[in-house]
Amino acid sequence: MPRLIRRVSPPEDSGRGPYYRLCPRCFRAVPGSTAERYCINDGTRLLDRCPCCGTRITSPYSRYCSGCGHPYAQA
Ligand SMILES: [Zn+2]
Ligand SMILES: [Zn+2]
Repeated sequence: MPRLIRRVSPPEDSGRGPYYRLCPRCFRAVPGSTAERYCINDGTRLLDRCPCCGTRITSPYSRYCSGCGHPYAQA
């Protein structure tokens, strides 16, 4: 029976401090530890990282990605 190899998450995903999910429409932020996936105000899917470079959202007040400057606002 083949052994299952567990995939280890990349370092940036494992406990490097808190991160947030952010609504790209109304900028409501929720802690990444919650189970919320969609904004309760407008039903928009929350961003948990930059769609451009994958950097985690580490501030609930972010409007732009700290890694690449990509705006989180939905076009
Ligand atoms: Zn929203
Ligand atoms: Zn980015």
